[in-house]
Amino acid sequence: MSYGYTGKILRVDLTRRKSEIETRGDDFYRAYLGGRGMVAYYLLTELPRGIDAFDARNILVFAAGPLTGAAVSGQGRNGAGAKSPLTDGFGNAEGGGYWGAELKRAGFDGIVVAGRADQPVYLWIHDGGVEIRDAAHLWGKTTGETEDALRAELGDHAIRTALIGPAGENLVRYAAIVNDRSHFVGRSGLGAVMGSKNLKGVVVRAKPGKGAMEIANPAGVQQISKWMGAHLDLVAGLHEHGTARILRSLSKAGGLPTYNFREGHFDANEKITGQTMSASILVKQETCFACAVRCKRVVQVKESAHGAVDPLYGGPEYETLAAFGSLEGIDDLIALAKANELCAAYGYDTISLGGVIAFAMECFERGILSTKETDGIELKFGNARAMLQLIDKITRREGIGDVLANGVARAAQQIGRGADAFAMQVHGQELPMHEPRLKQGLGVGYAVSPTGADHNHAMHDTYYLKEGAPVNDLRALEPAARPLPANDLSADKVRMLAAFQNWMHFWDSAVMCMFLPYSVEQMVALTNAVTGWDADAHEYLRIGERAATLARVYNLREGWDARDDTLPARFFEPFETGPLAGVPLPRDQFAAATREYYRLMGWDENGAPTRARLRELGIEWAVGGGS
Ligand code: SF4
Repeated sequence: MSYGYTGKILRVDLTRRKSEIETRGDDFYRAYLGGRGMVAYYLLTELPRGIDAFDARNILVFAAGPLTGAAVSGQGRNGAGAKSPLTDGFGNAEGGGYWGAELKRAGFDGIVVAGRADQPVYLWIHDGGVEIRDAAHLWGKTTGETEDALRAELGDHAIRTALIGPAGENLVRYAAIVNDRSHFVGRSGLGAVMGSKNLKGVVVRAKPGKGAMEIANPAGVQQISKWMGAHLDLVAGLHEHGTARILRSLSKAGGLPTYNFREGHFDANEKITGQTMSASILVKQETCFACAVRCKRVVQVKESAHGAVDPLYGGPEYETLAAFGSLEGIDDLIALAKANELCAAYGYDTISLGGVIAFAMECFERGILSTKETDGIELKFGNARAMLQLIDKITRREGIGDVLANGVARAAQQIGRGADAFAMQVHGQELPMHEPRLKQGLGVGYAVSPTGADHNHAMHDTYYLKEGAPVNDLRALEPAARPLPANDLSADKVRMLAAFQNWMHFWDSAVMCMFLPYSVEQMVALTNAVTGWDADAHEYLRIGERAATLARVYNLREGWDARDDTLPARFFEPFETGPLAGVPLPRDQFAAATREYYRLMGWDENGAPTRARLRELGIEWAVGGGS
């Protein structure tokens, strides 16, 4: 058994109300690692083909990684996965906070939840086992109310929680799982899968004083930990102003998604930047387990036109400020903080919800929707009150909210009248707040992502414009890496993005936070120090590629069409105004870059992984789609 793992996966069948412990050994962990790799393995091997995401046979996997729970910055996270109700494919996301580390310290590398309870329940994991407990009294409550009730009920203030709110209960297809009230397993609609299983939460408590797991080389881990402590200057901006520190510069560069991606700069951007938040409503910085960066925001508003904003729900990140701000033309920072609080309380992926509301606003402004459908709400860009009203309607699935709760792709089909032209999504998932006309390689990353558009495992071209640490570091994985313009879509750029993405699939399997400035060499040293392995960067890169390839096999098996590995038509038209006016994302070059990505990944012209590549990756068992 490798160091860094407990060797135990908790299996829970909600239909039969039974649990058991599965043991796993070195071969399994060294092939799939944790997080994304583990999710891909379980979905392919255990899910029947073609089931609906809300079918009781769907499984919900919670997966830590080898590093989870070690005393080093960036590893308090956990992955989760299931068939996604948003994309009907591989659903996977990661969340921070303390829950993942607590799960590991409680004795488990992961949980696989199957079946559906006949009434609301929650899992209470403690003392090496699990109780399936009644949650009927918690159904309908916000995440904050639920956490308070659970602390009182269990008589323990130190429990860690992964909960859904009313959005997940009402099967809003982009509902999130909320860790510890203010951290989110956001993308892919996993909160809705949890709701479909009548599972309100997973509560974990390790025995006080119990360590995580045995570490092979504690001094090696300590070395990285000390290095991070001594180099906090590298993340000073992130600490001071959070992820939203980039909002201003993105607007200046013409790459800030604005008015549902119609524009790339927001005239009022200064009112909603991370810097403005720091100078006004920020009350403190928070963190995740053992992380020295402390990038999380906590905001408070005691009184405003939108009511108070509760600091217990943290504060908005860049994606949230852009998705409810510039994307909806809203420059009222307090309204954005209120939207963030509602998203945490109801349990939402803020990227998708922001994208859905921006889509509805554009439909309204173009006359596709009217006050007749919106129950009188003037759903215009910039209307903060309308935005907040719509969040409530979607959560309750009331009126137009019932349609919008299905995500922009399904909503556009239901609305008709040409609405699909304004649905900014890839494979059903709403686009993150990074503009593919500025970062053109990232656009290819959106198109080929296993989860639908995702910015976490895609390469951000603007980091690779000139010589420096990012390019140097990438050379350790792809020797041909070199500075290239953000709008370059050459074969060299695609080589860089394929290597980078596979490396991020490894990080997401190790479940390491993407904001840590660890080099390739440091990540290899850290993972080896924890596990006791002697792996090199190439082996870890292959683990990432294996996870992405299994996810691709799963998606094709579930009916994904490679012809949808593209972007909405809007992105192939240049902006009319702003810093990027007239700069196109050329459709033919984009298609060629996508094909080149297939080639590098060992996928055929239809985007299907070849038997030869599956064999090379040691996953020939996945030929034909696994189970
Ligand atoms: S960098 Fe920020 S998000 Fe990442 S682990 Fe640290 S505090 Fe959490």
